[in-house]
Amino acid sequence: MMFTNLSPYLSENIMRPEILYPLFADISTLKGVGERTHKLITNLINGNKLVNMLWHLPTNIIDRTYAPKLINAIPGKICTIAVKVVEHIAPKTNKQPYKVIVEDESEQLTIIFFKVYAQSIAKALPVGSTRVISGKLESYNGQLQMSHPDYIVKPDEISKVLGIETVYPLTAGITNKMMSKYMQQVICRIPKFPEWQDEKFLSKQKWGGFNEAILKVHNPKYLTELEPFAPERCRLAYDELLANQLALAIVRQKIKKQVGRSLCGDGRLRNKILDCLPFTLTQAQKNVLSEIYEDQKQPYRMLRLLQGDVGSGKTIVALLSMISVVECGAQAAIMAPTEILAKQHLETIQSLCENIGVKVALLTGKTKSKERKNIINALQNGEINIIIGTHALFQESVIFKDLAFVVVDEQHRFGVHQRLLLSEKGNKADILVMTATPIPRTLVLTAYGDMEYSKIDQVPEGRKPVDTRVIPLNKLAEVATALKRKIETGTQAYWVCPLVEESEKSDLAAAEERFVALQKIFGDKVGLVHGKMKEKDKDEVMERFKNGEIKLLVATTVIEVGVNVPQATIMIIEHAERFGLAQLHQLRGRIKRGFEASTCMLMYNYPLSETAKERLNIMRESEDGFMIAEKDLELRGGGEILGTKQSGFANFKIANMEVHKNLLHIANQDAKLILELDPKLESLRGKALRTLLYLFEKDDTVRNYRG
Ligand code: ADP
Ligand code: MG
Repeated sequence: MMFTNLSPYLSENIMRPEILYPLFADISTLKGVGERTHKLITNLINGNKLVNMLWHLPTNIIDRTYAPKLINAIPGKICTIAVKVVEHIAPKTNKQPYKVIVEDESEQLTIIFFKVYAQSIAKALPVGSTRVISGKLESYNGQLQMSHPDYIVKPDEISKVLGIETVYPLTAGITNKMMSKYMQQVICRIPKFPEWQDEKFLSKQKWGGFNEAILKVHNPKYLTELEPFAPERCRLAYDELLANQLALAIVRQKIKKQVGRSLCGDGRLRNKILDCLPFTLTQAQKNVLSEIYEDQKQPYRMLRLLQGDVGSGKTIVALLSMISVVECGAQAAIMAPTEILAKQHLETIQSLCENIGVKVALLTGKTKSKERKNIINALQNGEINIIIGTHALFQESVIFKDLAFVVVDEQHRFGVHQRLLLSEKGNKADILVMTATPIPRTLVLTAYGDMEYSKIDQVPEGRKPVDTRVIPLNKLAEVATALKRKIETGTQAYWVCPLVEESEKSDLAAAEERFVALQKIFGDKVGLVHGKMKEKDKDEVMERFKNGEIKLLVATTVIEVGVNVPQATIMIIEHAERFGLAQLHQLRGRIKRGFEASTCMLMYNYPLSETAKERLNIMRESEDGFMIAEKDLELRGGGEILGTKQSGFANFKIANMEVHKNLLHIANQDAKLILELDPKLESLRGKALRTLLYLFEKDDTVRNYRG
């Protein structure tokens, strides 16, 4: 049986080309980066390597080339001027500023300092000396002033100041001067790379080389050079997109290259399950199933993405596809992103499999060691037909007798790499990736490459639409009162607390606070779940919500994934304006499960940005996940990206889907062509492309690819 040793996949730095070593050095190797700055920069640039600095692009420029005589200088402009220091005027009270009078041949100017040590000013501006100062010129009562010049340097250092200054996104504790200094060092350490792009394509696009582009991007002279459609930025975006598409194409090629097996169930178990179902399959489910059965029959390996909105009935599709390989005597696995979701799959699947002699088991990180041993044994000798689990299924000790079909119910939480690992445990296993977030075509391409692609674009009949209302937060008390009446009649509800900035801790504080407040109204009928809870406690609360002991469940976004409580028909989302569209849609999906009318209250706080307003309107007007996903992409282009962290899509460092969408499609074709001509990346260009993959940290792909 095939057995995968994981260690080569997991250890770092195995094969990175030497040419990249300088860029993968730690930022602590930069002059001036101490322990404190190290931490700040690491947070700022999302990494601690020089290469991470490269992608930290400037957002503005300051023109310091305006160097008039003072008498001609226009107040309000940034001026760079050589002046002679005339006099220091120390403040009499500490409310007054410290003043320094300076002059050029034409006019005097007062430099103003608030809260600065006199000593350091005296040192920077000794009386009688000449200094070059640069900063915003102001006019006060007809007198020229400059408060806190950005630069004070000696005359021979004027070239350091006079010019265009690059402005980077910063964080408290890191000034632009510091950032620029570090960046210049990084740029000096960039090796001269061989060209990995096609020369003809480059000249057609009028793009220069990578080194040239990165240099220009970090030394912009005009505002237009900061735009994502500037040629240099496009070149870098294309590099990134090609790395992304090439990595995905390699994984796909690797899977496709492997011969699969032709499996074709006889339908005996499938029919038994269909007989037991209290419903008939929708046409969409039937279509998708026949696509999957067709794939299973083929002698190559299937890699298919199944998209279906929340509640569209993916689980039964997964089960029926798995059953078909079980009919052939092989095994199937379904991998869920969380424990709760895995357990839920177990419930659904077990209840349908129990009576037809199909053995199902659950294996997660929490499975006790004795039970784990039994399960592992039973997997190895083939007693278990269907295994349900979390990434615990990757463990080396997990060996299958004959794994032929893998379902990854992923909600974007698994990487390409992990998917591949599980499939390698199989015997030429087919892979079905399921996702509940409808994904716009462009994003499918960036996240999955050219995967085969099925959609369940229909929800089972008889579902009532959700009555979605948009309500200001100051009506919270009224909402709570109305909710109380509803709950007294037996309804159950979710109360979703918002994300507070990025910190999980404060999310929690908000949820706990709300929980305490609601307890005053609802007593012990309220429960609380959040991501920081122990799995056991979380499950216990969920269980109590499921069996109706808890009527109102206060939750952070943990409920987004996986919870299935059909009796819950009301959802209140606090600070709905802080959520992304896709996320709101996912959350609302939780109350769309039953056949009863349900209500979703999106409570927002002022001020509401235009984008937030539009998001809430879209939610009120539509339940079509695919439409919402398209809108989401459109709106996110506007810069509000609270949703992106959750959505887990390829987070591009440079490429911007709004602007570079066409480049993505070119990169997709390019990647295909590259692999057709040079499947092992061995040509000169192929080798350069390997460097590109490592540069954009697609290491796992490259490593997987060897051999
Ligand atoms: P999801 O696609 O979100 O995973 P599920 O598979 O959990 O959706 O299905 C949601 C609910 O719809 C389940 O209770 C399931 O039993 C039910 N269901 C699935 N298919 C149908 C159908 N064809 N007709 C009616 N109900 C269905
Ligand atoms: Mg599901």
